[in-house]
Amino acid sequence: MAGRFAPTPTSDLHLGNLRTALAAWLAARSSGRRFRLRVEDLDRDRIAAAGPIAARQLDDLAALGLTHDGPVVWQSARTAAYEKALERLDGLTYECFCSRQEIARATVAPHGDDGLRPYPGTCRDLSAAERAERRRSRPPALRVRAEGAVVALTDQLAGPTSGTVDDFVIRRGDGLFAYNFAVVVDDACQGVDQVVRGADLLSSALRQAWLARQLGLAVPQYAHLPLAVAPDGGRLAKRDGAIGLARLRRRGWSVGQVVALLARSLGLDCPEQATAAEMVTGFDWSKLPATEWIVPRQILDLGQV
Ligand code: GLU
Repeated sequence: MAGRFAPTPTSDLHLGNLRTALAAWLAARSSGRRFRLRVEDLDRDRIAAAGPIAARQLDDLAALGLTHDGPVVWQSARTAAYEKALERLDGLTYECFCSRQEIARATVAPHGDDGLRPYPGTCRDLSAAERAERRRSRPPALRVRAEGAVVALTDQLAGPTSGTVDDFVIRRGDGLFAYNFAVVVDDACQGVDQVVRGADLLSSALRQAWLARQLGLAVPQYAHLPLAVAPDGGRLAKRDGAIGLARLRRRGWSVGQVVALLARSLGLDCPEQATAAEMVTGFDWSKLPATEWIVPRQILDLGQV
């Protein structure tokens, strides 16, 4: 049994990320679970400086006392495992040649609150000849054949949630495995049965739960934590997002004060300073806030140079 944290190394961890990491760690440790770390560095083109950023992310987690078990898993080194898992989806996938624009044109309004556009199924029933023809102009992505499956799950924090799973991409046209596929394979491989992460990924959980079942894997217990937001209610902008552990420390904050700030934002009773380990016994799911954490302006302003 294990919980986990799985950062994408696109930028340093901001307060919202650190808070999610602390919640995931406390949830795991307070239930006697191991804690796994995984770096989601699949997209090497987009994540040019993955190595140095990931190193800083791991340093921040260590500085906060968020210990982990076993080696850190790097998704960029996991292609063979993904290929192997893909074999188990025999007959459940199809090649898709659509560009983003074509999909946007073929779909009506974005659906759900996250703007996800369900794939309209344009390439679902192409003949072998049509596929061969299209392969000449564009390497195909691979989609699952979800057949409009309806998935329901009970999120530990968000409660019951359900929806239709669309034919989502599991391997992109450039050959890279997609997040939704890698995350399911890796969580299972790392023995993860408890996934605590940001509420922005709640709709992905339906796809991932469906995929786990198709792969014959157990579906983890999900807990999607409301995000950290700026005082105007907007998501932390990049500018605001720059406030993380390093910057607070440069401003004279101790690690203990940062832990206390994050722990209090999670509804936990906490003195002025604390270690993550001291917070384990007091961790209580029922105290976690059901609404977003509004990061105080004076703290965000510490991020301005
Ligand atoms: N890598 C994602 C992020 O940094 C998290 C993915 C997950 O927890 O499943 O937001």
